[in-house]
Amino acid sequence: FFLVVEGGDGSGKSTLVDGIGRYLADELGHDVVLTREPGGTALGRELRRLVLDRDPATGPRDEGPVPRAEALLFAADRAQHVATVVRPALEAGAVVVGDRYVDSSIAYQGARGDLDAADVERVSRWATGGLRPDLTVVLDVDPDVARTRLHGRDGADGADRLESAGDDFHAQVRQTFLDRASRDPHRYLVVDASQEPADVLLQVERRVRRMVPL
Ligand code: C5P
Repeated sequence: FFLVVEGGDGSGKSTLVDGIGRYLADELGHDVVLTREPGGTALGRELRRLVLDRDPATGPRDEGPVPRAEALLFAADRAQHVATVVRPALEAGAVVVGDRYVDSSIAYQGARGDLDAADVERVSRWATGGLRPDLTVVLDVDPDVARTRLHGRDGADGADRLESAGDDFHAQVRQTFLDRASRDPHRYLVVDASQEPADVLLQVERRVRRMVPL
């Protein structure tokens, strides 16, 4: 069973991934593999350095990868991640809980307006060999609320990431997640992430309990 958590920055993805991982392992007795992208492989950690950890003063776009290059880098990372982490874990019978997947690429690389979302999706599908999550949880939160959270957690740095891209960008990212979820309610669960983390987790547990084979 492959579960993915998606959502904007500051939506509480990593807290939910940890919580749902504990629930699956401790309450339901599953082998669980928690992972994230970019960052779940050595290649992914290198990608974070190349694409994400750029000097905020120069901005992520200055001399950074052009949009097509960025989309291909995320897709390359995903190919590596699926082949070396996700598929082997699924084949060994584990439940895999991933922090971000194809929808993040469609939302983020698609939101800047230079790339066609359908192209980004095709490249990602090719990279993964078509592996789709059984369930994608979308943590939905107003970017302003998320920004306040990031200020609390990462100090100015985390919030800078949100602020540097602009409000339209984050509104677009949010809308993309919601649109994709509304088209396929069997494979998606949208949760209001402005709630307390424990309430978010409870809602996800309820759905997961019904879906994950025992
Ligand atoms: O997962 P995490 O919140 O650490 O992601 C860090 C950043 O990576 C996000 O702010 C997002 O801008 C970027 N990202 C992206 N495209 C992806 C995945 C992540 O632009 N496919």
